[in-house]
Amino acid sequence: MKTIIEQINTEQMNKDTLKKAGEILRKGGLVAFPTETVYGLGADALNEQAAGKIYAAKGRPSDNPLIVHIADMDSLTRITKTVPEKAVIIAKKFWPGPLTMIFRKAECVPLGTTGGLDTVAVRMPDHAIAQEIIRAGGGYIAAPSANTSGRPSPTSARHVEEDLSGKIDMIVDGGAVEIGVESTILDMTVDPPMILRPGAVTREMLESLTGEILVDKTLIEPDSAEPPKAPGMKYRHYAPKAEMTILEGDISRVIEEINRMAAEKTAEGFKVGIIGTEETAGRYVTGNFKCIGTRQDEATVAGNLYGILRDFDSDGTDYIYSESFSTCGIGSAVMNRLLKAAGHHILHVDK
Ligand code: AMP
Ligand code: MG
Repeated sequence: MKTIIEQINTEQMNKDTLKKAGEILRKGGLVAFPTETVYGLGADALNEQAAGKIYAAKGRPSDNPLIVHIADMDSLTRITKTVPEKAVIIAKKFWPGPLTMIFRKAECVPLGTTGGLDTVAVRMPDHAIAQEIIRAGGGYIAAPSANTSGRPSPTSARHVEEDLSGKIDMIVDGGAVEIGVESTILDMTVDPPMILRPGAVTREMLESLTGEILVDKTLIEPDSAEPPKAPGMKYRHYAPKAEMTILEGDISRVIEEINRMAAEKTAEGFKVGIIGTEETAGRYVTGNFKCIGTRQDEATVAGNLYGILRDFDSDGTDYIYSESFSTCGIGSAVMNRLLKAAGHHILHVDK
């Protein structure tokens, strides 16, 4: 299959590109497009066969349900059985935005979209191109991250092309994304609602609006015997090809330890990558240092995370050593993705 790639800009959207994308989606095809979180791989969510193509193109396990993207509140009623009062309050504040909510599904949503579950995950993205494509495609677009399953999520059209060129009908290139990590997932079928995946809409932000919010404990205790409540969270996601270690503790000791380990692996002939920050750049002596952002603003760290992991892949890096981050605010999304990338390999260094 030849993948059509078209650039589009948010200020001056090319109507022909949107029309083409909409036609492909309505006919049951696959179109990758930008959202504010990461690039999504879209298909008509109400067409089971179309949704099935997403699994094939990504190599995604069939029990991993898809998020349905909508562009207006009326659409929510059609695909859900009930919408709890709290969800309405939360939607008013955070939609459109980087938040997915889970509801009981209506009959019209095929089990092929929900991975066999009787619930459906729904999000309204805050991105003009995404909204236009959702409307053009019929209003209900299943769109998981547009990467090969297991690879870091795509934050640019080039990343999508690397993974899916030749396997999907079209890529709409709207430039780099804004946030860089996937949406927060909030289960509204339980009360208090529960976070199943941390993202840019944080527990603190939700609690200040509607009171207590629980967090799936498997996100905090990765060795828990219980499986995560979001089926997708059990897979070793977001993984670079290199073996990755996160070092936690006093920052001077972390730098010292990373320098020691990097020197050792380099001497053995391995390619070493280091993930540090603006605050620590210049303090690493061996290895390929990449600056992930500044600790003054951890949103910058979220924005660069997946791109850096992909760069290390293309550099043929064997070992990655990374600083760790706080778990407040968006830091919890950053640490969740970093820990998964490292297969939960974390070293605590003492003073
Ligand atoms: P992605 O779109 O690739 O970021 O992945 C979607 C995530 O949402 C996966 O971790 C899924 O397991 C999760 N998800 C989607 N639908 C549901 C649902 N009905 N219940 C629980 N988790 C869901
Ligand atoms: Mg994904």
